[in-house]
Amino acid sequence: MARKIALVGVGKIAIDQHIPSLAKSDDWELAAAVSRNHQVEGVPNYTHMTEMLEAHPEIGVVSLCMPPVPRFDIAREAIAAGRHVMLEKPPGATLSEVHTLETLAREAGVTLYATWHSRKAAQVAAAKAWLADKTLERFTVTWKEDVRKWHPNQDWVFEPGGMGIFDPGINALSIVTEILPDPIHLKEAVLKFPANRDTPIAADLEFYHPKAAVVSAQMDWDHSGADVWDIEAVCNEGVLKLEKGGGVLLIDGVQQPGAIGQLDGEYPQLYADMAALVASGRSEVDLRPMLHVSDALTLGKREMVAAFDW
Ligand code: NAP
Repeated sequence: MARKIALVGVGKIAIDQHIPSLAKSDDWELAAAVSRNHQVEGVPNYTHMTEMLEAHPEIGVVSLCMPPVPRFDIAREAIAAGRHVMLEKPPGATLSEVHTLETLAREAGVTLYATWHSRKAAQVAAAKAWLADKTLERFTVTWKEDVRKWHPNQDWVFEPGGMGIFDPGINALSIVTEILPDPIHLKEAVLKFPANRDTPIAADLEFYHPKAAVVSAQMDWDHSGADVWDIEAVCNEGVLKLEKGGGVLLIDGVQQPGAIGQLDGEYPQLYADMAALVASGRSEVDLRPMLHVSDALTLGKREMVAAFDW
């Protein structure tokens, strides 16, 4: 039988991905929505979480789709009310607050799932399997997109906690931390801050690799033209390239079978994972992608660039 779930924070990603994925899922029934300014057709709508939780004791799971800064208080309230919680990426505004949520969820006996949608891209698992026994020489992430396209007029991305370029860049880091067999850590970063904003619009990162491979990432949010979401791994045994955010895999220039379009399968897989986690009473909170972002914001050299306006 489908479990009842409520969506909280109805905006771009809820409309683009969560609502269609839930509509197609046999595991879930969207039973309520909570959002201050938006409504979901066909279900009871609330402007505050507390009202929804009180009105719907039968809804056991909430999926939080608002930006990271307001998420902690809402997640804490849901956990305190005994609900299982699914978090959009990045799972919070700080590492500490997500650790707190983990502890609260464990104490309450509920599931906490910190999702990383890009890890569910069609070819990420195949890339991980290919890299597992290879000798890595160079690993390069290129993540460039137009913030005006994916976050139109969303000022929160440039406010403290919005993470700027790391809002999409953390998707790349979620794939990197999934597919690289060896752990890496940041050793140098340059962050470009628009003169009128509080978060970076571009970042260049260099990582330490325990076997001396050269690992780097270039991220840019002021990019015109097609999105570039590529990862290239040059190994002794050949060259792996993940394109389209993990949707396409090439080995030595030959496209591997099974590719599907960007995002098509990612959110249905996240909801399938959440169903399995709730059914088995487990949580999944992997903070490695966010650790690298936090390190970049700590260690990165700051350069001021031209003011950004929509
Ligand atoms: P969004 O449209 O700006 O925000 C989603 C909704 O959250 C808003 O419509 C708003 O609804 C609610 N909200 C905003 N600020 C809030 C606050 N201070 N307190 C409570 N609710 C608030 O953002 P989005 O693009 O959907 O992104 C949301 C999350 O999804 C982010 O963490 C982002 O990284 C992730 N994500 C986004 C994309 C994308 O393509 N945009 C892709 C993958 C993941 P109400 O005003 O109705 O309350």
